Amino acid sequence: MPTKFPGGVHPHTNKITQRDYISELTPPAKVFVPVLQHVGKPAIVKVQIGDYVKIGTLLASADGILSSNIFSPVSGKVMAIENRIIHECDALHIVIDNDFSDSAEYLPRLSNPSKEQILERIAEAGIVGMGGAGFPTAAKLNPPKEDKIDTLIINGAECEPYITSDHRIMLEYPEQILKGAKYIATALGVDNIIIGIENNKQDAIDTLTKTITANKIIGIKVVSLKTRYPQGAEKQLIYSLTKRTVPACELPSKIGVIVNNVHTALSVYFAVWDGQPLYRRVVTVSGGAVKNKGSYWIRTGTTYKDVLSVCKTVDSFENTKVTQDKLREKQQELSKLQKHEKAERREINASIKALKKELETVKSSKYIMVVNGGPMMGTCTQNEEEVISKTSSALLFLTEKEVNTVSPSQCINCGKCAMVCPMKLMPMFIDAATIAGDWAEAKKYGSIDCILCGCCSYICPAKRDLVSSMKRSKKMILKRGI
Ligand code: SF4
Ligand code: SF4
Repeated sequence: MPTKFPGGVHPHTNKITQRDYISELTPPAKVFVPVLQHVGKPAIVKVQIGDYVKIGTLLASADGILSSNIFSPVSGKVMAIENRIIHECDALHIVIDNDFSDSAEYLPRLSNPSKEQILERIAEAGIVGMGGAGFPTAAKLNPPKEDKIDTLIINGAECEPYITSDHRIMLEYPEQILKGAKYIATALGVDNIIIGIENNKQDAIDTLTKTITANKIIGIKVVSLKTRYPQGAEKQLIYSLTKRTVPACELPSKIGVIVNNVHTALSVYFAVWDGQPLYRRVVTVSGGAVKNKGSYWIRTGTTYKDVLSVCKTVDSFENTKVTQDKLREKQQELSKLQKHEKAERREINASIKALKKELETVKSSKYIMVVNGGPMMGTCTQNEEEVISKTSSALLFLTEKEVNTVSPSQCINCGKCAMVCPMKLMPMFIDAATIAGDWAEAKKYGSIDCILCGCCSYICPAKRDLVSSMKRSKKMILKRGI
């Protein structure tokens, strides 16, 4: 039974890479590992220039519960420790020359671990929310004592356009995700796990459901969710799956729920079962400017420039040809299917639709913007020297046709932004208050509850950058303690 939350929009999904198997991106000759890959304070550097490190060597240790341990993604020599930009912040990066020996030091495997051992391992392995939030998982799994947790939600919604990394891991690592979910549930002491997946990923729903049945796993159910952005936002997902509402300024634990992303569950499995700390992740590399689009295992600290040197850009002629060839392939695939193979036909038709849309956008191959994450909530840059971190679910190289370059005009009071806001806010009033610098007024209209989903900006016919206003007003309200 597909479930839904109030508000939301239907951006074009552009999930071109959904059928491509995950592959390993060739590690670069040099990595720049940031000590800030989480919400809290930067981790404390534990190595010195000249040190030899292996894959899995601790480079920096967590500074407080909202911080996380940082591990080396390659083997080689520490060459520098320098300040660089990561997701709009300045932070130290540990520069390592890769010797390509791939020698590694993992933590010991835990078999039959206790609740305490799992919690300790999750913290030790530096695991954070991998859907983009970067909230340390160990802190999330340690809610206030008065919060009685009865449900663990595993977030497989992946509602942002372009991104298919979670979709692919659900298809390629179903058993590991389920085991990871069980470890998390043990750490929490709950036996009710719900995996929520949007119904445009029916193959992932089927794969996980079959794996649960085949392995006679009890306590986990997979729920199909209506495809609607931002279905994967924590509060919207909880509402869709449990009909419980997280009160303003409270955490989901207040209503008995903890949410973890599917990639986080996979990383928990690797940390507990293999002793593998978090030094790599699956990233969808896509956008009109990319030739070899796909989902790749990428080491943290890999620059965008190095990602693009492997994935390549193409000229408009070649780009068009690649897309046309893929389109032809899909059309042939479709023609071979029988009428009764409805699910497969639906899926291929969706790919064909996405490829046709892609054809319209590939005329120019030059990217004008790089986005870390999805186009709705990701961080934009033009700096190719920034790097992949634990929270980078996607890296998009977008062309002019894919980016809104229209200048904003006056609000026409159409009310569309309010209609699509999943938090039931009045974005146009918050925007006006922000322009006037009236932070008390912005707070009165609930800007602090904004989840920065971008639905309002997406729908606005005047192309107003409402999300920037929301971000600014939130920042000012918190800064001034209003
Ligand atoms: S006001 Fe915030 S929560 Fe509402 S649509 Fe805009 S970005 Fe999303
Ligand atoms: S959608 Fe844009 S134009 Fe319409 S009310 Fe909101 S801010 Fe104004």
